Amino acid sequence: MRAYDLIKKKREGHSLSPAEVAWLIGGYTSGEVTDYQMSAFAMAVFFRGMAGGELRAFTEAMLNSGEVVDLHHVPGVKVDKHSTGGVGDKISLPLAPAVAALGVPVPMVSGRGLGHTGGTLDKLESIPGFRVNLTTAEYRRLVEEVGCCLIGQTAEVAPADKKLYALRDVTATVDCIPLITSSILSKKLAEGIDALVLDVKFGSGAFMKDPHDSLELAKTMVDIGTRMGKRVVARQTRMDEPLGVMVGNALEVQESLDVLEGGGPADVVALTIELGAEMLWLGGVAADVDEGREQMKRVLSDGRAREKFAQIIAAQGGDPRVLDKRDLLPSTPHRIAVKAEQSGYIQAIDAEAVGIASMMLGGGRVRSADAVDPRVGVEVHCRVGAKVSAGETLFVMHVGDQGVDGALAKLAGALTWSEQEIQAAPLFGSRITSESISAE
Ligand code: URA
Repeated sequence: MRAYDLIKKKREGHSLSPAEVAWLIGGYTSGEVTDYQMSAFAMAVFFRGMAGGELRAFTEAMLNSGEVVDLHHVPGVKVDKHSTGGVGDKISLPLAPAVAALGVPVPMVSGRGLGHTGGTLDKLESIPGFRVNLTTAEYRRLVEEVGCCLIGQTAEVAPADKKLYALRDVTATVDCIPLITSSILSKKLAEGIDALVLDVKFGSGAFMKDPHDSLELAKTMVDIGTRMGKRVVARQTRMDEPLGVMVGNALEVQESLDVLEGGGPADVVALTIELGAEMLWLGGVAADVDEGREQMKRVLSDGRAREKFAQIIAAQGGDPRVLDKRDLLPSTPHRIAVKAEQSGYIQAIDAEAVGIASMMLGGGRVRSADAVDPRVGVEVHCRVGAKVSAGETLFVMHVGDQGVDGALAKLAGALTWSEQEIQAAPLFGSRITSESISAE
């Protein structure tokens, strides 16, 4: 086979066979297919798309380009959650221990923050001692012994995706549904899971801003995951304003601990319960999602989820005393309140601007090699629809060594005001399974 012929075939709108796709990805991983050829192929996919069977074969080839962890020795249905990312999205932190505490093993491989969005690994690393770079052997052992393990992607997982994602980043081919689907599923399925819950965001703080695009992505991921023998459910959720109050690494751990103690902001709690209910249903410990919701409410309020988080922290080298002594988490003494200069109703909060403000303070990364300051971030004290009087606090910045002026300017422009009362739009959009799509 020749890369040239496969690029031409895709450019002309034909589907590649499984053997052709496997050859292309194999060749790209080994270096036989060059970056410039793969760039041309990615652009052809951008314009021509991929048929279902072809995309399944492409995803499988990406998955098989590296290690696929075997978790068959762990009893039960192994279930993970993946979110397409947003601002203040700390849901994995309360969700994973809550679901694991109810008996569903949760192997979770997460990412780091980039740009305006945060990453679960950075948040976890703000807990003193917490290690996310575990070996595959440690990961397999902790999923079995603790019921949950929260780690970063190892070099062995889906190396074809690692190369292709970097290439897409510089060739304007990131926002392409088949390429996103194969990228996310190849990494998630390499964890050894049986089932997956997807939180597919839309709105100003999401990377897929348009709800129709996000629905299309959700449908494609459910379809391909199902074709690959996994049970997959997707929930579409709104990311038009930051999730919860806290944006920033240690700050989001604080808020997650609140949720694990039966408190926390209503939207964070609702999303944790909803995604957890889906995981419990897929994991076979709840007869349906309604029962899953009830189990989630109980486990968050009776201390079992909190106790499981303590076990996970200890197992991964962290200091579980943070649960009782929150001041063990890194914090900065410098706070700056941003006050309202006018009265009115909040019509919109630009979540992306809030995420960028936190990044400018040092809480996020411009480039993937950048370090993060775990202490800094932004408290968001306003919600869409809230009536605010001049002088009220809108944001509190937790400030470290950098970025105050830039962050202030970002926050100053983050709000849209209205003189009329505003109805906040619902958090949940459609629920997508292999059988149906239902609107909330
Ligand atoms: N996240 C991924 O891992 N891959 C994509 O293609 C987009 C978002």
